[in-house]
Amino acid sequence: MEKFVPRLIAWEITRSCNLNCIHCRAASSKGPYKNELTTEEIFRIMEEIKEVGSPIIILTGGEPLLRPDVFDIAKKAVELGFKPVLATNGTLINKEIAEKIKDSGIARVSISLDGASAEAHDNFRGVPGAFEGAMKGILTLKEAKIPVQINTTVTAVNVNELPKIHELAKNIGAIAHHIFVLVPVGRGKELQKGALTPEEYEKILNWFYDQREKSGLQLKATCAPMYYRILRQRAKVEGKKVTFETFGLDAVTRGCLAGTGFCFISHVGIVQTCGYLELPCGDLRKQTFKEIWENSEIFNNLRDFSKYKGKCGRCEYIRVCGGCRARAYYATGDYLEEEPLCTYEPRKSNKN
Ligand code: SF4
Ligand code: SF4
Repeated sequence: MEKFVPRLIAWEITRSCNLNCIHCRAASSKGPYKNELTTEEIFRIMEEIKEVGSPIIILTGGEPLLRPDVFDIAKKAVELGFKPVLATNGTLINKEIAEKIKDSGIARVSISLDGASAEAHDNFRGVPGAFEGAMKGILTLKEAKIPVQINTTVTAVNVNELPKIHELAKNIGAIAHHIFVLVPVGRGKELQKGALTPEEYEKILNWFYDQREKSGLQLKATCAPMYYRILRQRAKVEGKKVTFETFGLDAVTRGCLAGTGFCFISHVGIVQTCGYLELPCGDLRKQTFKEIWENSEIFNNLRDFSKYKGKCGRCEYIRVCGGCRARAYYATGDYLEEEPLCTYEPRKSNKN
């Protein structure tokens, strides 16, 4: 039987945030939120994670820098052999914080840019000054020689900004640009009214593929599992084999890792397959991480591709793509249904 190991864990170490972004999964606000995991609890859970793997831990929020023990958590992760990275809005980073980030062993910091100008970004983020704060944060990190990744959530509101944000990411010396396809949950639900169509996303993801060789940045399409189908279709047309040598990590990863190599831990210790699929799979105050990782029914369903339904269930790309389980859930009420944002018509007539 295939063994599933956590390779990436997004950990919402606090739900509090200093911004008010229109697409926020958690609909975070200032807080404080009650009952958040204590430092001791987080350390204990990390020891439990160690029993099943040595993942990259994304310290996220809310705004993770609002948690006073964020650097102790990062140090503990390093001590256990994990690789901690930080996902922040960047507005709280000054020289002193940048030094602390570096000293704690955080390997990379991701900052969101959803517009290439103050007007576009602040409009998206819902807070005047957010762009200036993020840019300042990026430059401060650069000065401290901390690798910076730019994240962009692509929606109808900012789709025209994407090429400009990509150029900006290059110009400010980021090492990576990750784009995210919107999942209609939290405040992101509101954005759905002006949502992009599957055809528009197809175009964007093809554009993203075109940047691969010329961009010089590490590129990743996140929560856009169909990108991994597009990549293979395009490579085939171009006569290229998809191997680690030619396509790097894109060749060996899967579109959606939720439940197979990825999971989410909430600010109060609830485990989900990912932050967007809001179905509790276990409570780390009552069960160990290993118990949840190995026995949760939802995790095990996502690992069994024969259970997938609709187009995804009969698709020859199921193993490299998988479709977004969260979007399937919000569209149909069933997380095993087909991805609503995919234009592809599978060739297979039967389920695999
Ligand atoms: S289910 Fe969707 S939102 Fe969750 S990790 Fe997979 S692609 Fe991303
Ligand atoms: S039908 Fe589903 S599995 Fe196939 S490419 Fe589209 S989203 Fe992926």
